Amino acid sequence: MGPLPLHLLPSTGTVAPDGRLTIGGCDVLQLAERYGTPLFVYDEEHLRARCREAVAAWGDGVAYASKAFLCKAMAALVHDSGMCIDVSTGGELAVCLAAGVPPERLVLHGNNKSLAELTEAVEAGVGRIVVDSFDEIDRLSALAVAGMSARVMVRVTPGVEAHTHEYVMTGQEDTKFGFSIASGAAARAVDQLRRLPEMEVVGIHAHIGSQIFVLASFRKAIEALADFFTPLGLPELCLGGGLGVPYVTGEAAPTIIEWAAAAREACAAAGIPSDTRLTAEPGRAIAAAAAVTLYRVGTVKDLPGIRSYVAVDGGMSDNPRPVLYGSGYEAFLPRSTTADRPRQVRVVGKHCESGDLIVPDACVPADLVVGDILCTPVTGAYGHSMASNYNKVPRPAVLFVAGGHARVVVRRETYDDLLRLDA
Ligand SMILES: *Cc1c(COP(=O)(O)O)cnc(C)c1O
Repeated sequence: MGPLPLHLLPSTGTVAPDGRLTIGGCDVLQLAERYGTPLFVYDEEHLRARCREAVAAWGDGVAYASKAFLCKAMAALVHDSGMCIDVSTGGELAVCLAAGVPPERLVLHGNNKSLAELTEAVEAGVGRIVVDSFDEIDRLSALAVAGMSARVMVRVTPGVEAHTHEYVMTGQEDTKFGFSIASGAAARAVDQLRRLPEMEVVGIHAHIGSQIFVLASFRKAIEALADFFTPLGLPELCLGGGLGVPYVTGEAAPTIIEWAAAAREACAAAGIPSDTRLTAEPGRAIAAAAAVTLYRVGTVKDLPGIRSYVAVDGGMSDNPRPVLYGSGYEAFLPRSTTADRPRQVRVVGKHCESGDLIVPDACVPADLVVGDILCTPVTGAYGHSMASNYNKVPRPAVLFVAGGHARVVVRRETYDDLLRLDA
C-alpha cells in the first residue's frame, strides 16, 4: 500500500523533486515518448557494477548466464567487465561470437546439445563444454575421432532440493539435467571422458536452481558434492547460478559477495582443497534489477464489487514470468515515483488470455489514468529473453542508458519483422 521501495530501482535511479524518475541520467517519461512503449530500459552502470562484484567475489572464470538477457551489447558489456559468459545453445553462442567475445571466455551448457552445436563450439574454441549426458559423450567421442579437442566439465546433480519454484529447481534426483552422483552415473561419465585424451576433464559443475534466497541451499549442495569432487583431484568446481533477487516489497536477498563467501566457507568445511578454482554463473543477480519495463496504460475497467483491471500495451509476450511461475512484481507511475499507492488493481496485458497477467494484485497511486506510463521494476532477467510474438505483438525495444545518454541496443520489432519468415 505504501510507496515503491526505492531499492528495487536500478542503482542510478533517482527521483527528481517533482517525483519524476531518471535512470542513467535520463528522464524515463521522455524515453517512453521518444522510443515508444513497451520499452526495456537497462542501467549500464548497474550492470557493470554487478559484473565487477561477481569478479571480485568469485575471481576470474565467473560467468554470466546469458539466457537471463542477451544481445550483442550485453555480451560486449559483460566481457568488458571481466566476466566469462555461459551459453546454452548454438544461438546464444552465435550472438556472443557476433559481439566479438573471445571464444575462450565462453562456456557451453545444455542438456541436449546437437552434434552441430558441439561442432560449432569446438571449432570456435570455446573455453569449456559442460557435458550433460552419455549421448553427448558419444558425440564428443565422434569429434575426438575427427581430431577435435576441448576442455570439458561434467554436470552433476547433487540430489538436493533448493528452496525455490519447482520449475526452476534443478539439483534434485528427478531431473533432465546432468549426471546423478548417487546412481554412479557421474563417476562413469568422468571415467568415460578421461579415456578420451582429446577431451580434457577440468572440473565438475552443479546448478541447483534459480531465484534461491537461502544460502543454506548452496551449502547443502556443496556438502553433497564434496565427497564426489575431492577424490577426483580436478582443478575446478563450478557451483552454477541461482542467487535470488528481490522483486517485491519485503523480499531481501544475499549479495553476490555474501553468496561467494558462504560458498567458500562451505567448501572449506567440506574438505574441498583450498586451491580449487571455485566459480559460479549468476544470471538473474547480474541483470534482473538493472532494468525496468515501461508500459502505457490503455484501458481501465472498474468492475463494481469485483476489481479494477488496468490494461497496458504489453503483457505475457514481454514478461511471461507471472504466467509461468506466478511471479510477483511491483508497479508504479514514474511521473510520481514516491507517491502512495492506495489503489488495488490488476495490471494485465493486451493478449487474448485471461492468464495474461503482469501484476495480479498491484498497488498504484489513486490518480492513475488512461495514458499514464506505468513501470514495473526488476524486469532485466528472463523478460526480454523469454519474449514472444504471441498475438503477433512486436517485441519491445531495449535501451541502455548511462551518463544522460540512451542508446537502442535492440530495436523494436516492426510488422515487417513479423512477416520476415513467412514464405
Ligand atoms: C539458468 C542457469 C544459470 C543462471 O541462473 P540464475 O538463476 O539466472 O542465476 C547458471 N547456470 C546454469 C547451468 C543455468 O542453467
